[in-house]
Amino acid sequence: MALIAIVGFYGLIYGSFINALVWRTHTGEKIGRERSHCPKCNKTLAVKDLFPVVSWLMLRGKCRYCGEPISKQYPIVEIITAISFMLSVAFLDKPEAVFGWAALIVWLAIVGQFIALAVYDLKWRLLPNSMVATLLVLVVMYQIVQAFAGAGLGEWLISPLIGAVSAFGFFYLLHILGKGAWMGGGDVKLVFVLGALLGGWPTLIGLVLAFNIAALVSVVLIATKLRTRKDVVPFGPFLLFGAWLAFLFADDIAEWYMRFSGLA
Ligand SMILES: [Zn+2]
Repeated sequence: MALIAIVGFYGLIYGSFINALVWRTHTGEKIGRERSHCPKCNKTLAVKDLFPVVSWLMLRGKCRYCGEPISKQYPIVEIITAISFMLSVAFLDKPEAVFGWAALIVWLAIVGQFIALAVYDLKWRLLPNSMVATLLVLVVMYQIVQAFAGAGLGEWLISPLIGAVSAFGFFYLLHILGKGAWMGGGDVKLVFVLGALLGGWPTLIGLVLAFNIAALVSVVLIATKLRTRKDVVPFGPFLLFGAWLAFLFADDIAEWYMRFSGLA
C-alpha cells in the first residue's frame, strides 16, 4: 500500500515532466536546458507554479503573469500519469531483490513514455522518432534487467524478437497495402518496440485489444456525433493502451479466452 502511494505521488511529478517533454519535443527545445516558462508570455515560472495539479487549481487555470489560460492538458496528464503508475504497480507482484526493483523502475519509465507518446499523437497526430527511439532504449534496458534477474534466453531475447518482428511485419504490410492511409509509419515503428517489450503471444493480445478498443471508441464517437466518419482518430494511443493492458493482464486474458472458447 505504501509503495502504491509513493508511486502515485511520484506519478504526479513525472506527469509534469511528461507535459514538459511533449511540449519541448514539439518546439525542439532542449530538455532540462532552461527552467519551465509560460508558452504564451515566456515568463520563467516560479517554483510555486510548478506543483502538479495543485498549482493549476490555485491559479484557476490561468498564467500568474499574463492571465492567459493554461491548458487543462497539464493537470489531466499529471493525474492520468499518477493513476496509471499506481495501477501499473498494483497488478504486478511485489518486487523481490534488486533486479525486481530495477525492472519496476524501468517499467514505470516505459509507462511514462507510453503516456508521452499518446499525448503527442492525440495533439499532433504524430509519433516522433526521437520519442519512439527513447522507448526502444527503455525496452532494451528492461529486457537486459530481466536477463540479469535470471530470465531464460527465450524469455528476454527470443520471444521479444519474435514479437517485434511479427508485429512490425504485419503493420508494415498494412502500411504498404493501405498506401499509408490505414496505418501511419509511426505506428509501424511503434509496434516493433511494443513487440520487443511484450514478446510473442502477448504482442498478439495487445494488438487484438488495440483494434477492438479503437473500433469501439470510433463507433461511440460517431454515434455521439463527436467525430464524423472522415475524421482521423490516431491509432497510437490505442496501441499503447492495448500494450499496457497486455503487459499487465496477458496471462489472465489468455486464460479467460481459452475457457470462453472451450479450448481449455
Ligand atoms: Zn504567461
